[in-house]
Order: sequence, then structure tokens, then C-alpha cells
Amino acid sequence: MLPYSTQFIEEDDIAAVVEVLRSSHLTQGSKVEEFEEAIAEYVGARYCVTFNSATSALLGAYAVAELKENDEIITTPISFVATSNMAVALGAKPIFCDVKMDGNIDENLIESLITSRTRAIVPVDFAGKPVAIETIKTIAKKHNLLVIEDASHALGSDINHRKIGSFSDMTVFSFHAIKPITTGEGGAIVTNNEEFASRLRLFRSHGIIKKHLWNSDMVSLGHNYRLTEFAAALGLSQLHKLDRFINIREHIARYYDEKFDKHPLFSTITIPNNEQSGRHLYPLLLNPELHCVKEEIFEELQSRALGVQVHYKPIYKNSFYKERFGEIRLMTTEHFYRSELSIPCHQKMSMEDAKVVVDTVLEVIEKYSYRGCSF
Ligand SMILES: *Cc1c(COP(=O)(O)O)cnc(C)c1O
Repeated sequence: MLPYSTQFIEEDDIAAVVEVLRSSHLTQGSKVEEFEEAIAEYVGARYCVTFNSATSALLGAYAVAELKENDEIITTPISFVATSNMAVALGAKPIFCDVKMDGNIDENLIESLITSRTRAIVPVDFAGKPVAIETIKTIAKKHNLLVIEDASHALGSDINHRKIGSFSDMTVFSFHAIKPITTGEGGAIVTNNEEFASRLRLFRSHGIIKKHLWNSDMVSLGHNYRLTEFAAALGLSQLHKLDRFINIREHIARYYDEKFDKHPLFSTITIPNNEQSGRHLYPLLLNPELHCVKEEIFEELQSRALGVQVHYKPIYKNSFYKERFGEIRLMTTEHFYRSELSIPCHQKMSMEDAKVVVDTVLEVIEKYSYRGCSF
């Protein structure tokens, strides 16, 4: 099976992990700091605080934003559930904003959703394509809101050569196995705000600060959401390869763009010339006449060893959200969900693999097109 995304581990990654396993510190040593400094430098942010997942990082970001009971965040339903789950965990309510057909939050609809309870705007750079961050920041500034960007797909993405991670009050990255680089499980927050950074460090590690000799003081309620030293070593080794990984994904994505250009049955998402997408996903958007055969297309592609996936079932369609917040339907979100199909695009693929993907996708989609759907 050729998965839609997967990790790419080489011998030097393994050696970096083994070196730490043979050292004195498996946790709370210097590798985590080294990794944090390297990420901050790479994205152009002042501070980086790593976590053991992007999910715990999101919880940390919301906690230091002082999100409380009955506060609201404005976010996107086209994301992994963790984006809004961690706000719900603090008693807040996610207000879902409709998206555009690139899967990103529609920045023109955000302002109409702001209430006296809104605390933050939480966009997601879907598939690695940057959101309209300048517009979102302008809205946030006008209404005194924080921008917490879930960039789990977008490490290495940029706008006019300025990296994602350098724009928002806090930006969250994921190092889950299939994300742009991996530490197995892991995540990070980058910020230019010193206060946020120090509170995030406390939140991550029991709220304890070291004092003289054995004395320490627990000054706030914290958790243990730390990354291990060997995970940080893997992350550091992977970070050095990120630009190479993105080049490979970009090469495959451009090949797909060319082969799928102006196809009558589906479209793809165009990345503007002044932006780099990390190309975490390569989404196809099936035309409406194929929506009723999407399950068959999905199953046949899977049976032919293409590990396709759908990103995402809108968060508000999950039973937990329906029960807690009531049923909603956002028009473009629904349409995007019915259309979207992610095909394999990752750094472990060869161009021969990419050619097989193109041939198989075209053959299967064209095979089912004769059935057509009535509306
Ligand atoms: C993967 C992902 C997360 C969660 O990341 P973990 O590191 O697995 O906790 C959150 N948000 C988005 C958009 C993701 O893709």
C-alpha cells in the first residue's frame, strides 16, 4: 500500500536516536533545547516550546491564552478534531466558520462570528497551504483577539519567503509520524511572546520552577507533556532534511498538477506563486457528478494499493459535537467534504510511484464517471 503520507527515516536519523539512548539523559537534557532553538530559528520565531504531541501543545496554547468556560474561539471544521477538542477541554465553545474550496477558513466570514465572548481565532493551514494570515491578523487586532494557528500540516510552508510560525501569536506544529517531519509523537509551539513561552514551559512541566539547590517552587498548575531526548534527537535530525522533503513533495505535486490540469471530472488546489505549501497533503476535489460514487472510487483505489484518505469529516458532524453544541451545516464545508480525496504525496515516493498514482487515479475516476449522479 502506498499511503497518503508516511514517515521517512534514514540511517542518520536512527544513529541520532541511538546516540541519545547511550547517553546519560533520556529526558530533560540538552537535546530538547537544541531542537527548540533549531525550530525557532528555522521558522523565524523568538521562542519554541516542544510538547509530546500537537494535541497537548494546543491545550497549552489555549491554557496560556486563558481560555475559560463559555469563552469562544472561531475555528475551522475542516481539521483534525484536536484543534477544537482542546478548547472544549477548557470549557470553551468552538464557533465553526465556513471554509473556501482550498479547505482553509474563509477569512471574509470570520468577523460576522465575533461576539463579546470570542477570545481567539484558530485557523489551520490545510494540507500545508497558508491561510490568509494577514487578513486574519488584522481582524484579530481590531477586536483584540489572539491568533493561535494550528500549523500541524505546515512546517516549512511560507508566504513571500516568510515561514509559517512567524506570523501568529502562537503557532502549533505536529511531529506525529505522518506529519512534515516526525519525532514519533510530538509537537511544538512557536511564539515571539516571552510571557507565553515561559507559561507554556510551566504548563508542560508541573508548573515547577527551580530555585536554590534542592529548593523548587510549584507556581502554577502544570502537567507532564514533555518530549523525550531521543524524540528531540530524531526531530533535530529530521529538521535538517525538511527542505529536501518539501522539494520532493513539491516535485510530485507539480507533476500531479500538470497531469490533472483541466480534467473534466475533478480539480486540484492551486498554490499562489508567492507561497510555498509544505504539501503535507495532495487533495483532489471531485466534481459533483462523482460525489455519489466517491465510496466506490475510494474503495477501488484502496484495493489497488493507493492509501487514499478524506480530509476531513467536518468536526461538527461528530456525535460528540452534535450532542454538545447542536447540529450545524456550513455550505462550502459540506461541499468540500463531499469533494475531497487526498492521494499519496510524500518524501518516500519515487517519480515512478507518482506515475502509478496518476495512471491509477485517472483510470478509476474515469471508470466510475459513466454512472453519474443526479441531484
Ligand atoms: C495531526 C494534527 C493534530 C494533532 O497532532 P498530534 O501531534 O497527533 O497530537 C492537530 N491538528 C491538525 C490539523 C493535525 O493535522
